[in-house]
Amino acid sequence: MEDPFVYSIPMTTRFRGIAVREGLLLRGPAGWGEFCPFTEYDDAEAASWLAAAREAADDGWPEPVRDRVPVNCIVPAVGPERAHALVRASGCSTAKVKVADHPESAAEDLARVEAVRDALGPSGAVRVDANARWEVDEAVAAIRALDRAAGGLQYVEQPCPSIEELALVRRRVDVPIAADESIRRAEDPLKVAVAGAADVAILKVAPLGGVRRALDVAEACGLPCVVSSALETSVGMAAEIALAAALPRLDHACGLGTGALLTADVVAPDARLTPRDGFLPVLRRAPEPVARQGVAADPERTTWWRDRLERVQLRARRYP
Ligand SMILES: [Mg+2]
Repeated sequence: MEDPFVYSIPMTTRFRGIAVREGLLLRGPAGWGEFCPFTEYDDAEAASWLAAAREAADDGWPEPVRDRVPVNCIVPAVGPERAHALVRASGCSTAKVKVADHPESAAEDLARVEAVRDALGPSGAVRVDANARWEVDEAVAAIRALDRAAGGLQYVEQPCPSIEELALVRRRVDVPIAADESIRRAEDPLKVAVAGAADVAILKVAPLGGVRRALDVAEACGLPCVVSSALETSVGMAAEIALAAALPRLDHACGLGTGALLTADVVAPDARLTPRDGFLPVLRRAPEPVARQGVAADPERTTWWRDRLERVQLRARRYP
């Protein structure tokens, strides 16, 4: 078996506080899997990410029920003209707009969603993501104003940090609430559903421990689901798409257009999983990481990742 490959790829824009994305690719009988827990995660948290990578490498994924997956385009905290151009260029009919990027962002946020609605037309869907930046009262006021400016919001993603706060906001606004950061582990979506905290669950294969585990979670929580990436290369992205492809119901576009946030990829240019006309193709296994030259991590980071893999593997054997 060949050695796991460690990549290091600069981001086009800082995202989630990181400027360079790192991870490890491993190969098994079913194909390639990606192990890329964020560097600050401890070994216990990284175990689910390994389970997801091993599922791809050892078992492959369950049967898809669709052959392509609709995705949203991402509108970062940019000015209205840039936002308009991004949406038009994407070919997507759903846009996810970052809001609450900094204090006093309210006026800019309103101008941005207005521009996005103008670019999408009345039949498009506008969703916003506050990344847990608001307090309850602030969230209620902001959501009402954004809903008006957008001519109707599809949903608002993670307005506040805690499940309790999400539930409070949800009771006071008509816009549906989606839980993202509140869902990191398999138990979390159930807590969110039980607390009446959200109308939509954002699921990610890697932190939930694989496509099969995520499908179980989707069934148990009973909420409409949106699949979102964990900023993987095209190898890990194929697993996220496999989940979106296997969900019995998929009512909304998914947050899987993040490949463009990486300046390079580990696969050949024509195999990159970036959306075309608002859709991503469903693959039965991850594309081959043939474009490794130029994205290989330096020896020090390679050792760090291989050591991490070894520790997390040992842990998985001890606490299966
Ligand atoms: Mg989010």
